[in-house]
Amino acid sequence: MGMIVRGQSRCHLCDRIMGLFQRVTGFPAILGSDHPLHHFSDAIMHKACFDAHPDAQRMRGLYDRWLRVVDGRPRDLKSLEEIHAWEREAFGKLYAEEGFAVHPTS
Ligand SMILES: [Zn+2]
Repeated sequence: MGMIVRGQSRCHLCDRIMGLFQRVTGFPAILGSDHPLHHFSDAIMHKACFDAHPDAQRMRGLYDRWLRVVDGRPRDLKSLEEIHAWEREAFGKLYAEEGFAVHPTS
Protein backbone atom coordinates (compact mmCIF):
# COMPACT_ATOMS: atom_id res chain seq x y z
CA MET A 1 0.00 0.00 0.00
CA GLY A 2 1.26 3.44 -0.79
CA MET A 3 2.70 5.54 2.00
CA ILE A 4 0.56 8.42 3.24
CA VAL A 5 2.18 11.71 4.14
CA ARG A 6 -0.68 13.73 5.55
CA GLY A 7 -0.68 17.24 4.27
CA GLN A 8 1.33 16.18 1.20
CA SER A 9 -0.03 12.96 -0.36
CA ARG A 10 -2.78 13.30 -2.93
CA CYS A 11 -6.00 11.31 -3.08
CA HIS A 12 -6.04 8.70 -5.83
CA LEU A 13 -9.60 9.68 -6.77
CA CYS A 14 -9.91 13.46 -6.43
CA ASP A 15 -6.21 14.40 -6.56
CA ARG A 16 -6.58 16.80 -3.62
CA ILE A 17 -4.15 16.77 -0.69
CA MET A 18 -5.12 14.43 2.16
CA GLY A 19 -5.36 16.67 5.19
CA LEU A 20 -4.26 15.96 8.74
CA PHE A 21 -7.76 15.26 10.04
CA GLN A 22 -9.37 13.58 7.04
CA ARG A 23 -10.15 9.86 7.11
CA VAL A 24 -8.22 7.90 4.51
CA THR A 25 -8.34 4.36 3.18
CA GLY A 26 -6.29 2.26 0.80
CA PHE A 27 -5.44 -1.15 -0.52
CA PRO A 28 -2.27 -3.18 -1.02
CA ALA A 29 -1.22 -4.26 -4.51
CA ILE A 30 -3.52 -7.24 -4.93
CA LEU A 31 -5.05 -6.88 -8.39
CA GLY A 32 -3.54 -7.73 -11.72
CA SER A 33 -3.00 -4.91 -14.20
CA ASP A 34 -5.75 -6.24 -16.46
CA HIS A 35 -8.38 -6.20 -13.69
CA PRO A 36 -11.00 -3.43 -14.12
CA LEU A 37 -10.46 -2.30 -10.50
CA HIS A 38 -6.68 -2.37 -10.75
CA HIS A 39 -6.51 1.39 -10.17
CA PHE A 40 -7.52 0.74 -6.53
CA SER A 41 -4.60 -1.65 -6.08
CA ASP A 42 -1.74 -0.03 -4.15
CA ALA A 43 -3.72 3.21 -3.89
CA ILE A 44 -4.62 5.54 -1.04
CA MET A 45 -7.54 7.95 -1.02
CA HIS A 46 -9.96 9.92 1.10
CA LYS A 47 -12.42 7.52 2.69
CA ALA A 48 -15.28 9.78 1.58
CA CYS A 49 -14.06 9.70 -2.04
CA PHE A 50 -13.79 5.91 -1.96
CA ASP A 51 -17.17 5.45 -0.27
CA ALA A 52 -18.83 7.55 -2.98
CA HIS A 53 -17.20 5.63 -5.84
CA PRO A 54 -19.60 3.31 -7.73
CA ASP A 55 -17.12 0.41 -7.49
CA ALA A 56 -16.47 0.78 -3.74
CA GLN A 57 -18.68 -2.13 -2.71
CA ARG A 58 -17.14 -4.47 -5.28
CA MET A 59 -13.60 -3.49 -4.26
CA ARG A 60 -14.40 -4.02 -0.57
CA GLY A 61 -15.76 -7.46 -1.43
CA LEU A 62 -12.65 -8.38 -3.40
CA TYR A 63 -10.39 -7.19 -0.60
CA ASP A 64 -12.38 -9.10 2.03
CA ARG A 65 -12.06 -12.30 -0.01
CA TRP A 66 -8.32 -11.71 -0.42
CA LEU A 67 -7.95 -11.17 3.34
CA ARG A 68 -9.81 -14.40 4.11
CA VAL A 69 -7.36 -16.32 1.93
CA VAL A 70 -4.37 -14.61 3.55
CA ASP A 71 -5.78 -15.21 7.05
CA GLY A 72 -6.12 -18.91 6.22
CA ARG A 73 -2.44 -19.28 5.42
CA PRO A 74 -0.92 -22.24 7.24
CA ARG A 75 1.65 -21.10 9.79
CA ASP A 76 3.90 -24.10 9.39
CA LEU A 77 5.11 -23.44 5.83
CA LYS A 78 8.90 -23.41 5.94
CA SER A 79 10.41 -23.14 2.49
CA LEU A 80 9.72 -20.69 -0.31
CA GLU A 81 8.62 -23.66 -2.42
CA GLU A 82 5.98 -24.59 0.18
CA ILE A 83 4.81 -20.99 0.41
CA HIS A 84 4.59 -20.57 -3.36
CA ALA A 85 2.74 -23.88 -3.74
CA TRP A 86 0.20 -22.75 -1.14
CA GLU A 87 -0.16 -19.37 -2.84
CA ARG A 88 -0.84 -20.94 -6.23
CA GLU A 89 -3.50 -23.22 -4.79
CA ALA A 90 -5.13 -20.76 -2.37
CA PHE A 91 -5.28 -17.85 -4.79
CA GLY A 92 -5.98 -19.93 -7.87
CA LYS A 93 -9.74 -19.73 -7.51
CA LEU A 94 -9.74 -15.99 -6.86
CA TYR A 95 -7.40 -15.46 -9.77
CA ALA A 96 -9.62 -17.48 -12.09
CA GLU A 97 -12.74 -15.62 -10.99
CA GLU A 98 -11.45 -12.10 -10.65
CA GLY A 99 -8.07 -11.78 -12.29
CA PHE A 100 -6.31 -11.28 -8.96
CA ALA A 101 -2.59 -10.97 -9.08
CA VAL A 102 -0.97 -13.26 -6.55
CA HIS A 103 0.78 -10.87 -4.19
CA PRO A 104 -0.48 -12.30 -0.91
CA THR A 105 1.88 -11.25 1.84
CA SER A 106 5.31 -10.43 0.55
ZN1 LIG B 1 -10.32 12.44 -2.47
